[in-house]
Amino acid sequence: MPTALSFLAHPDDAEILCAGTLIRLADTGWEIHIATATPGDCGTMTATRWDISSTRTNEARAAAALINATYHCLDERDGLVVYDKPTVQKSIDLFRRVSPALVFTHAQDDYMMDHVEVSKLARAASFVFGAPNISAFPLLPGSKIPHLYYCDPIEGIDSLGHPAQPTTIVDVTAQHGKKLDMLARHASQRDWLRAHHGMDEYLESVRRHDAARGRLINTPHAEAFVQHRGHAYPHDDVLLSLLGKGHA
Ligand SMILES: [Zn+2]
Repeated sequence: MPTALSFLAHPDDAEILCAGTLIRLADTGWEIHIATATPGDCGTMTATRWDISSTRTNEARAAAALINATYHCLDERDGLVVYDKPTVQKSIDLFRRVSPALVFTHAQDDYMMDHVEVSKLARAASFVFGAPNISAFPLLPGSKIPHLYYCDPIEGIDSLGHPAQPTTIVDVTAQHGKKLDMLARHASQRDWLRAHHGMDEYLESVRRHDAARGRLINTPHAEAFVQHRGHAYPHDDVLLSLLGKGHA
């Protein structure tokens, strides 16, 4: 069974950025893995880091379970995710165990540095995890450089406010109710985001963004991606060929 991996910074990032596409892949028989770099240990105004980490990883697991996905956490710390040797190795080891054919990560430039660093970690791990000597974990058959897609940056803008230019837009209209169900599993975050970011509507902001992406392909809800097309990566748009309409 082909395997897709969402490797993003925090619990709830996958549900916000690519869950509709993950649901579509799961529905067509793909095995789905959702990994976060951190357990979301700073996503609170009141709880200890240990209590909120437990709460949030349980929320992430519950959301993943809705599509029979496996949840992983690299157990880094919120706000402190860095592209360094130990964290690259942890990322490679994750890829080695999952052996993804398709990877989703953050935009190369995004509003916070945890996202930017995870994007670099995913890029590094995707390129090299199939090299026999890079990890102590066994090399699974078929491991090779996967299709790599960058999700939208938050609000569809980079750190300077420039709009992202998607290469690939996936219609997730039929999956949107389930996507919001997955997001709603992150109950701890509705209040936290309201207090910290001034984002009043945890679900509504996702609805609005996905509706804006949908307008690009004349459908109610869509998710947008930029495909990594550097040397040695597959250049064919596998999302487009698997899931149909949606070029930008
Ligand atoms: Zn995040």
